[in-house]
Amino acid sequence: MTAPALDLHDSDASQVLRRVFGYDEFREGQREIIEHVVAGGDALVLMPTGGGKSLCYQIPALVRRGTGVVISPLIALMQDQVDALRALGVRADFLNSSLDYDQQRVVEATFRAGELDLLYLAPERLRLESTQKMLDGGDIALFAIDEAHCVSQWGHDFRPDYLALSALHERWPDVPRIALTATATPATHQEIATRLRLEDARHFVASFDRPNIQYRITPKNDPKRQLLELLRTEHAGDAGIVYCLSRSSVEKIAEFLMANGITALPYHAGLDAGTRAANQARFLREDGVVIVATIAFGMGIDKPDVRFVAHLDLPKSVEGYYQETGRAGRDGLPSTAWLAYGLQDVVQLRKLIDGSEGDDAHRRRQSGHLDSMLALCETVECRRVQLLAYFGQEGKPCGNCDTCLTPPESWDGTIAAQKVLSAVYRLDRERRQRFGAGHVIDILMGKKTPKVIQFDHDALTVFGVGADLSASEWRGVVRQLLARGLLAVEANHGTLALTEASASVLRREREVPMRREPERAAKTKLAKAA
Ligand code: ADP
Ligand code: ZN
Repeated sequence: MTAPALDLHDSDASQVLRRVFGYDEFREGQREIIEHVVAGGDALVLMPTGGGKSLCYQIPALVRRGTGVVISPLIALMQDQVDALRALGVRADFLNSSLDYDQQRVVEATFRAGELDLLYLAPERLRLESTQKMLDGGDIALFAIDEAHCVSQWGHDFRPDYLALSALHERWPDVPRIALTATATPATHQEIATRLRLEDARHFVASFDRPNIQYRITPKNDPKRQLLELLRTEHAGDAGIVYCLSRSSVEKIAEFLMANGITALPYHAGLDAGTRAANQARFLREDGVVIVATIAFGMGIDKPDVRFVAHLDLPKSVEGYYQETGRAGRDGLPSTAWLAYGLQDVVQLRKLIDGSEGDDAHRRRQSGHLDSMLALCETVECRRVQLLAYFGQEGKPCGNCDTCLTPPESWDGTIAAQKVLSAVYRLDRERRQRFGAGHVIDILMGKKTPKVIQFDHDALTVFGVGADLSASEWRGVVRQLLARGLLAVEANHGTLALTEASASVLRREREVPMRREPERAAKTKLAKAA
């Protein structure tokens, strides 16, 4: 079952890099990390997706005596990882719930006999006393904790089993530990160090910049058509990922693309395991397949030539956005990260947060995540600078994002903001019924819809005061007010409500500069630059 042994324990890291993995040079950061861990030091590694984290523990595991134990939440991918290593002549295996009892005994025996270079374990395994006893019976070269952000209770991938990993240090104080993640703000970073008891670990932080990815965020008007245009004009025949929030929109969009001649396959947790695996395999192996998915898709997927990642719904956090868009362009070639977002996204995500389980502190955090995401969407500065700043890193205006390529114009939206806020104020005073953004916009534009007539809203002083802007411009105004906390949306019905900050606008104490919705011309310019 195991591949022939390689005797590597006397070689140095660069020899292993060449002989086993067939690469000539280390990538940025790899050598320092590997040498530190080989020497027995603890490490906390932050490297963007595709940066080459795996080698940072695989090489030390080969160079050091004993077996490198890798804790990974990606059970579905363990088999692939192990197969890939075996193909290189590395003695690797895994223990997870997919193995039957006899298979597990074989793996355990191989480990005890010192015949494994790498052993992959699911975190829940490691909590078992039996697993810990087994590990005591062998030689451990290091512990690698992959996707270490899963220990963060406030992050988007929290796994309770990760909390127990803090015990590794107590039971095996002499075994070096290396925790790795692609996702971490300075705050999460600190949380990982504390929760995993890695206070004394050396931190290695690689640049999070992905210069070959062109970031673009555009207002959502007619998402299907916008997506199709993107695929046809810029990414014909390319492999890519389209992210949607719900399972039903995943299916609808996949069908829509198929009907338009694009090989598009759905992927979400509601599909049976067989279909999911088959669709994922086609995406990985065939050229030019577009996968339409919920965020259930992608963790650990290593496909170098994903040319675009398109979001049809707003991600819940900048971390999520960064991680998902990071799946584009791992081969370093030009790629597109495209996001369409609209008023409805803001309303929907606010509702989700207000209605979510957990305490107020949890909701405040989620709300903070959303605010940062919205700030990224509404920024008039370079997207990349803003994105890097979120991860505590500095950058220069990049020339490869939509705001750099077509700097957004701003306009004085103070009066428009006052119109929206006074309409919301009037409606709120009635307290008869709850009204959402669409109704407010109808009133401002002077539309006598059945609902307007039913509630006599054509008699309001604000009725028809907003004929100067189009409906989509009004949606942009409401969206930007929501993004800046000048307007709120209530959980149950998506009703608009004033916030404390609204008063300053109504009293004319502050101005409200707004971002103009980009016109068609801007799009053409972008397409050429890409
Ligand atoms: P991460 O886990 O950080 O997302 P991986 O470890 O999966 O990234 O590496 C991404 C890709 O880069 C893989 O295909 C890997 O083989 C390749 N890679 C890693 N290090 C090097 C290197 N030094 N030279 C060339 N390719 C590398
Ligand atoms: Zn830029």
